[in-house]
Amino acid sequence: MIPFNRPAVTGDEMTCIAQALKAEKVSGDGEFTQSCQRWFEERFDCAKVLLTTSCTHALEMAAILTEVGPGDEVIMPSYTFVSTANAFALRGATIVFVDIRPDTMNVNEQLIEAAITDRTKVIVAVHYAGVACDMDKIMDLADTYKLFVVEDAAQGVMSRYKGTALGTIGHLGCYSFHETKNITCGEGGALLINDERFLERAEYVREKGTDRSKFYRGEVDKYTWVDIGSSYLPSELNAAYLYAQLRHADEIQNDRLNSWQAYDRQLQPLAEAGAIEQPVVPLECEHNGHMYYIKAKDGNERARLLAWMKECGAMGTFHYVPLHLTEPGRKVGRFHGADRYTTLESERLVRLPLYYGLKSDEIREVVDVVWRFYET
Ligand SMILES: *Cc1c(COP(=O)(O)O)cnc(C)c1O
Repeated sequence: MIPFNRPAVTGDEMTCIAQALKAEKVSGDGEFTQSCQRWFEERFDCAKVLLTTSCTHALEMAAILTEVGPGDEVIMPSYTFVSTANAFALRGATIVFVDIRPDTMNVNEQLIEAAITDRTKVIVAVHYAGVACDMDKIMDLADTYKLFVVEDAAQGVMSRYKGTALGTIGHLGCYSFHETKNITCGEGGALLINDERFLERAEYVREKGTDRSKFYRGEVDKYTWVDIGSSYLPSELNAAYLYAQLRHADEIQNDRLNSWQAYDRQLQPLAEAGAIEQPVVPLECEHNGHMYYIKAKDGNERARLLAWMKECGAMGTFHYVPLHLTEPGRKVGRFHGADRYTTLESERLVRLPLYYGLKSDEIREVVDVVWRFYET
C-alpha cells in the first residue's frame, strides 16, 4: 500500500524536544520559538514572524488585525480550505467568492476588480499547491482600492514568486505546519507580518490580548489586558519539533521536488495522448513540491479512477469541495460572477501520493496504476 501522505520525520525531533524539556520551558515563546521565527525572518527576508498554533489561527489573527467586521467584504477563491473563509466569517464579514483559473487552480486575478465594492476590505490570495497567485496584479489592485492582502500560504512555505518568498508579499502571510504540509510539527502555523503597522497589535492578539510579550522583554513592568485576542501561541515542544524540521528544510524540499518532477515526466505521455491534464506552473513561480495532481475528464471518471487506485493500493485523493456549494458557504458568502471553472475543475482533480521519502519505485507504481486505468 502506498499511502497518500506520510508526515515528514527528520530524526532530530527527539533531540530538540529533550533540549526543550531540559531548559524547563515548555510554554510558548522560549528559545525554540525564537529560533524558528528567526529562521523564517532571515531566510525569507521578512520583518516579523510569529509562530502560531495553526494556519487557521494565523488567518484568524489576520482577520482581527485587519479589523473586518459585519458589512465588510473579503474576496477569496471558493476553491480553498474552510479556514480561509471561517477566519473572516467569525468576525462577521461577508465572503465574496471569485472564480479560479483552470491552469493553476488559483483565484483568477482578472476577475477580482469587478468583485470589489466600497465594502471590500481584504483580498485573500491562496497559493494552491504552493504555486503562487499573480501577486503583482493582486498587490496593484490592493494599492488602487486601499485594500489589505492576506496570503494563505499554508501550502506555500519555501515557494517563491519572482524570487520573493510566498507569505512575505501581502500585508500579512499565513503558514501551516500541519502534518499534511511539507514542514510540520503536527499542528502549527505562523503569521508573517510584512506591514509594520500590525506589529504591536499582532503580539497582543496572539497573547490573549495582553502585552505579556513586552513584559518578557522588560519593556513594561507588569502585563495587562490591552486588546482583544486569544491563545494563539504554540508550546515550546511544538516549536522544538518544528526547529528539527527546519534544519532539514532543503532536504525535504529537494526530495519532494524530485518526486514531483518524476511524476510529471512519467505522466507526460498520458497527457500528450489527451487522457489526463497535468498541473501548470507559471514561469515566475518556483514551487515547493507540495502537491502533484492530475485531472481526469470529469467528476465521473475521477470517481472511477479513485476507486481503481484504492483497489490497487495506491492512494489518490480528491480535494476541496468548493465553499460556495456548502451550507455555511451560502450563508456567509456569495459567488461573484459566473462559476465557470471552480466546480468543474475541482470535480476532476486527483492528488497523487507525495511525501518526504517517497521512493522512485513507488512513484513508478502509482504511475503504472494510472496508466493501467486509462489502458482499459
Ligand atoms: C492546510 C491549510 C490550511 C489550514 O492549516 P492548519 O494549520 O491545519 O490550520 C488553511 N488553508 C489552506 C489553503 C491549507 O492548505
